[in-house]
Amino acid sequence: MGDLTSNLSGTESFELFNLNQEHILLRKLVRDFAENELDPQALEYDRKEQFNLKLFRQLGDLGLLGITVPEGYGGSGLDALAAVIAHEELSAVDPGFCLSYLAHSMLCVNNLAQNGSEAQKKHWLPKLCSGEWIGAMAISEPHVGTDVMGMQTTALFKNNIYLINGRKMWITNGVIDESGTSADCVWVYAKTLNNLGETEISTFMIEKGMKGFSVGQKIKDKTGMRSSNTAELVFQDCEVPGSHLVGKLGDSLLHMMRNLELERLTLAAMGLGIARRSLQIMNRYANEREAFGHSLNQFGQIQSYIANSYAEYMAAKSYVYQTASRLNLEKGGQRIDSDGVKLIAATMAKNVADRAIQVLGGYGYVGEYVVERLWRDAKLLEIGGGTIEAHQKNITRDLSKNPQILN
Ligand SMILES: Cc1cc2nc3c(=O)[nH]c(=O)nc-3n(C[C@H](O)[C@H](O)[C@H](O)COP(=O)(O)OP(=O)(O)OC[C@H]3O[C@@H](n4cnc5c(N)ncnc54)[C@H](O)[C@@H]3O)c2cc1C
Repeated sequence: MGDLTSNLSGTESFELFNLNQEHILLRKLVRDFAENELDPQALEYDRKEQFNLKLFRQLGDLGLLGITVPEGYGGSGLDALAAVIAHEELSAVDPGFCLSYLAHSMLCVNNLAQNGSEAQKKHWLPKLCSGEWIGAMAISEPHVGTDVMGMQTTALFKNNIYLINGRKMWITNGVIDESGTSADCVWVYAKTLNNLGETEISTFMIEKGMKGFSVGQKIKDKTGMRSSNTAELVFQDCEVPGSHLVGKLGDSLLHMMRNLELERLTLAAMGLGIARRSLQIMNRYANEREAFGHSLNQFGQIQSYIANSYAEYMAAKSYVYQTASRLNLEKGGQRIDSDGVKLIAATMAKNVADRAIQVLGGYGYVGEYVVERLWRDAKLLEIGGGTIEAHQKNITRDLSKNPQILN
């Protein structure tokens, strides 16, 4: 798969994208894994609609499952830019597998590393970083997605334990195998009451096998991201000891918002991976394929597909890398641009994959040529981790509150 080994742009430099030697080596490590291990199975697992758990655990040996976690807890202690690179490389080959990686390493593991107590981090992080345990994160519910504060899952403190009731929907890694086994632990947001009787949001780490926790339906027949599992999780008087409350009671809105910044940034990075691979494939095909006695890339319409895709991809890449290099994992602080990069990169990826199918004609429409899968997978980026409409709403709100951003 030589198309991944050559850098399409040829312009990547330390200065342009704020990369250091560690980032360059990381890209090589993940790209080697993606080419040699991930690519040969990608189409098969998409078609079977299965998550490759065995292969996923190998990411632990590579130090990728706790990429942003301090080394003392079994992680690699790298920054947001490193997380972007890992997602970009995995997504260029298998975005579905990469979505499972994101749910584990960004939504569950990084959240715990940033917000857990010392005892909680020592207890859970080493197992999650090694791949012995698989994690998930649950905000969304059957009746509530964008309107997060409308969540209906509750946690009630009674007889020294929390009783959690509710359903969580669309949870990536909600199940991890074909027999329907749940993730080993799930970072769950639920509503709690404060002393004044007001509702707030709190976080609980729920482990597989806890009384009252079960898997609802496994969501089948997704358009794309079929090599990751998605499931509904059910909490029925689920009994959770106080030691599984993460952070202070009622304090989780801030966790959620901070972690959403990293989630959106890495989803945007997935869009870069999809776009780069699509460009590589359409560029090569347009050079090789002939029609009317000329290679396809001699035709103006084909040139506009390739050239527009390249310029849009590079613009998105600059924005994603610039935002990543400014994102402080502990403090966040890039809210408007985490919405911005996802807004721009999601639709860019979908459009570039769409143009790649067009350039390949009939061949683009079948699985062997990869771009139809990338196109299906890209669509999720306009929905998951915040819809594009949610990003538009958030950016407009932030600009109206802080017009000086535009100075
Ligand atoms: C494959 C997949 C994996 C997922 N993984 C996870 C996961 O691991 N954990 C998790 O918690 N969630 C996960 N999700 C859920 C995902 O984050 C939600 O689907 C997403 O936030 C949208 O919520 P919704 O589907 O309920 O749509 P809704 O919020 O009901 O929105 C429906 C439509 O209405 C629009 N809309 C809603 N409110 C407004 C508004 N105020 N202004 C304008 N338009 C609006 C939306 O933009 C959208 O177009 C996943 C979803 C999918 C499909």
